[in-house]
Amino acid sequence: KNYQVVVEENRKLYNEVQELKGNIRVYCRIRPFLEGQNKSETSIEYTGENGELVVANPLMQGKDTHRFFKFNKVFGPASTQEEVFLDTRPLIRSILDGYNVCIFAYGQTGSGKTYTMSGPSINSEEDWGVNYRALNDLFHLTQSSQNTVMYEVGVQMVEIYNEQVRDLLSDDVPDASMHCVRSTEDVLELMDIGLMNRAVGATALNAKSSRSHSVLSVHVRGVDVKTDSILRGSLHLVDLAGSERVDRSEVTGDRLREAQHINKSLSALGDVIFALAHKNPHVPYRNSKLTQVLQNSLGGQAKTLMFVQINPDEGSYAETVSTLKFAERVSGVELGAARSYK
Ligand code: ADP
Repeated sequence: KNYQVVVEENRKLYNEVQELKGNIRVYCRIRPFLEGQNKSETSIEYTGENGELVVANPLMQGKDTHRFFKFNKVFGPASTQEEVFLDTRPLIRSILDGYNVCIFAYGQTGSGKTYTMSGPSINSEEDWGVNYRALNDLFHLTQSSQNTVMYEVGVQMVEIYNEQVRDLLSDDVPDASMHCVRSTEDVLELMDIGLMNRAVGATALNAKSSRSHSVLSVHVRGVDVKTDSILRGSLHLVDLAGSERVDRSEVTGDRLREAQHINKSLSALGDVIFALAHKNPHVPYRNSKLTQVLQNSLGGQAKTLMFVQINPDEGSYAETVSTLKFAERVSGVELGAARSYK
């Protein structure tokens, strides 16, 4: 089979490349087919245990009939919320050791970013997304060590739309307001307020949420009861704007401006993570609001995890490849050659 050749050849190449660099992990998650979609029309040709993924060009012509990618892990369409979170767990623990952890969801609109981060509902435990599970873990961990370290937890929530940062938790403050919380429920209450504020200004037809980034930041400060020494860590949960490219000839005005801002901030984010993965001396944080907001949390004592969401259908092939290329670039493993096959 065609893809087996692709896998074999690329495996050899990838074995010569270092493991993914720095503290950056990239997980790809494939959304299941939705009702009414034809399952046989898929662009996903192969997924391997070890993070390998081959996508096939539905037209089967041109020089790239198959493309090979490799990430830290690929979660197939049947994977559960619990499985997806399992590998994220150790990262949450490291926040209490003083790390800054950033978790991103990247992908085109409709690829499952919100499903992964927030989950389809919080009423049933199996539906819980990464946000809820992470906060739940964090509070459990802080509570279980109460006798040795006293923790304080503060939360901020902002939205970045057209390069403007807006506090979603209160009005008219120059910086994002910080709210003290004691439990996962406290955070959920704030998230509800934030989500309501996010919806304000978005008309029904014009759901703005897919075209803005939302950043939920959790700051933890721990004081060692015996020594009084202080430790700080943070967690940023980022639902990024949809990465789909819009056809410049088809949109004008507000839509075009939005699209340009999204493009700019997503590529700025890509550049920053790339620079960090390659340990470049200069990290270009200043190029977008998103990277400025996250500046202190990306790099240094930081761990970054990106969920790269893709659609399984043939029709999404072009977007899927573009998403996967972005992910490959930020993960720091970019071979450049012999990834695709005729
Ligand atoms: P995005 O946030 O990227 O725009 P959504 O998270 O809203 O995408 O997902 C789009 C649709 O696909 C929603 O109806 C969502 O419930 C569904 N969906 C996404 N991921 C999954 C999944 N892993 N399992 C079941 N349904 C999913």
